[in-house]
Amino acid sequence: MKITILGSGTSQGVPVIACNCAVCESHDTMDKRLRSSVMVESEGTRIVIDAGPDFRQQMLRQKVMQLDAILITHCHKDHIAGLDDIRSFNYLFNKPMDIYATERDQLAIRQEFSYAFHENPYPGVPEFNMITLPETLFKIGNMHIIPLEVFHMRMKVYGFRFGNFSYVTDANMIPEKTMELMKGSDVIVINALRKQPHVSHFNLEQAIDVIGKLKPKVAYLTHISHMMGKHADIEAELPPSVHMAYDGLEILMD
Ligand SMILES: [Zn+2]
Ligand SMILES: [Zn+2]
Repeated sequence: MKITILGSGTSQGVPVIACNCAVCESHDTMDKRLRSSVMVESEGTRIVIDAGPDFRQQMLRQKVMQLDAILITHCHKDHIAGLDDIRSFNYLFNKPMDIYATERDQLAIRQEFSYAFHENPYPGVPEFNMITLPETLFKIGNMHIIPLEVFHMRMKVYGFRFGNFSYVTDANMIPEKTMELMKGSDVIVINALRKQPHVSHFNLEQAIDVIGKLKPKVAYLTHISHMMGKHADIEAELPPSVHMAYDGLEILMD
């Protein structure tokens, strides 16, 4: 199984105006973060989690020619805004894209991309095959996936476990039953927005605390805001088995 970090940033991490902070000014490629997304591949199956505003750029950068499904963690714009660009895959393979999302998130997607759901849609609109996200173990191709229910303040969001890899973004609370489902993961990618507390995202200390309870072999932080500071500075402060994720990071697992 191969995991590729397509994006490790957040909408705060990709300013539309240059804010002149140290991260904006940095020439380190590790400080250039697209919106959070991850690609999970095993022989013959390729899945992407979330399709934010940078989805197209992420697909081009990784030269992704084939994609089996997109899993949606939740319907915030930085996780769904790029779904219009599935039309390239629709065109190439002449079939709709399988999108796994909760009923709430499906409704948000239908509103956001209403033109794609008209009774007689204009030719060329993106084609979605909406699949309700199962609440327990399910299979896509040869991959077994366990949904991980977590909370983004009051909002229920899903992370996913594939084998011994767990991915959680946009959480600030992980219920005990989900912690149980994540136990035994060798690799965990988890969100850490910044050092200061935040109402709906783990900060650095909280993310490290969760990692300390789950004890994976290695953990990577994602959904990182510019307020966190520069990659190299934070990396130097982290415990030995915890690292900052960065765009393009590849993790190979059995
Ligand atoms: Zn969110
Ligand atoms: Zn987000």
